[in-house]
Amino acid sequence: MALKTGKEYVQSLKEMNPHPTVYLFGEKMQAPYDHPMVKPSQNAVALSYDLVHDPLHEDLMTARSHLTGQKVNRFCHIYQSRDDLVNKIKMFRMLGQMTATCFQRCTTCDGGNIMYLATYEVDQKFGTKYHERFKKFFRHLQENDLVAGIAMTDVKGDRSLKPSEQADPDLYLHVVEEKKDGIVVRGAKAHQTGALNCHYTVVMPTRAMAPEDKDYAVAFSVPMSSPGLIHIYGRQFSDTRKLEGGCIDMGNPLFGMQETLLIFENVLVPWENVYLYKEYEFAERISGLLGSHHRCSYGGCKTGVSDVLIGATALLAQYNGVAKSSHVRSKITEMITLSETMYGCGLASAYEGHKTPVGNYMNDFLLANVCKLNVARITNQIGQLALDIAGGIVTTMPSERDLHSPEIGKYVEKYLRGVSNVPAEHRMRILRLIENLMFGGGAGGYIVESIHGAGSPEAQKTMIPRESNLSHKISLAKCIAGIKE
Ligand code: SF4
Ligand code: FE
Repeated sequence: MALKTGKEYVQSLKEMNPHPTVYLFGEKMQAPYDHPMVKPSQNAVALSYDLVHDPLHEDLMTARSHLTGQKVNRFCHIYQSRDDLVNKIKMFRMLGQMTATCFQRCTTCDGGNIMYLATYEVDQKFGTKYHERFKKFFRHLQENDLVAGIAMTDVKGDRSLKPSEQADPDLYLHVVEEKKDGIVVRGAKAHQTGALNCHYTVVMPTRAMAPEDKDYAVAFSVPMSSPGLIHIYGRQFSDTRKLEGGCIDMGNPLFGMQETLLIFENVLVPWENVYLYKEYEFAERISGLLGSHHRCSYGGCKTGVSDVLIGATALLAQYNGVAKSSHVRSKITEMITLSETMYGCGLASAYEGHKTPVGNYMNDFLLANVCKLNVARITNQIGQLALDIAGGIVTTMPSERDLHSPEIGKYVEKYLRGVSNVPAEHRMRILRLIENLMFGGGAGGYIVESIHGAGSPEAQKTMIPRESNLSHKISLAKCIAGIKE
């Protein structure tokens, strides 16, 4: 099948799942795919389809599938080389620059690659047949150019208790019934990025599990149209601006992201779509693989979004007449340096990737975790510098309707100007963009997403010592110091 355009992608969502169950503000959404709250996030995913057909971006956006021999969207690729890992980071930066948000499709490739490896490892240990099943599913994604989101994060209830110890057994997703034709699962997955923009969801365990948690050690894929799947749409700061019919106040009127709370109310999963079933020993491995693989990706996407924020800040400094001021120039330089540090980490993790026993390539996990921890810290610093230069007006500015008001528009135009040759509207647009990047849903709040996406900083701090071989460093020191024991 030919690679889809953005328009064909949206059409395919409607055809595959014409009536998803989605609730927003306590009411069932009618025609959710056409809803103004949803459209910007859908546009961001659609761009990943359209760019494939642009000769300028075709090379970066596509790859040759080792499963089908056909050209596929890079988001549907099983990495066959280090170059594939590097190109993914470059593609993510480019899309971050073009959308200034999370474009949501990355878990298809990141999740696909880790399940490609994990199912092989489980088969090696237990003699199961998961790998062939998963390969068949991924081939189907490639052939039909589809999006499969990863559902990993359980709602977790009391964080001090294991899945099987919770007062309510559904606080981690689990198997409630085993049938001849499949398994029935119940539970909920939180923070489901772009869930409504996906054709499928791929469920994985979120943490290490013990033998008594084995009903929770489950991985599978289901179409978003499966009976029993319910989305509760997540709120974002200033999200109702999308319903006001304007443009300036949205900051990023074209693109955005989306998160839903995804509820599995007795969903039947056919056996052929089950990729882990009670092998609790692999729960930690799968969550660790996804975390460490996806953490490298942040070095691409968040650098791309930072490029927009840095550009917006520099432009605003021009509009304010302070672009030549030495402290502003020094702050912009600092923002660039910080941002390129994230990119450097992401690229380094990709360049240091290795071939796995099943043949695909994995990035370096130590560098990926360092990358993500840096992203969590650095975006905060970049954001602080952006707000420092922008001034308090980011959060006190009158609205677009005031600008266009027949009575008071002239005052907004007069008093919101910076340098005399730039209209107030331009300054307002760039201020709203900065506001959107910092606080809005446009980049998952840029800062919040950078802290908690792909695992919170403590998750990286757990992985870094595990991956860094501290005893080797100690032996180096002993050797140099001449300590013989
Ligand atoms: Fe992709 Fe970045 Fe969004 Fe993750 S946070 S899905 S890597 S754009
Ligand atoms: Fe994310």
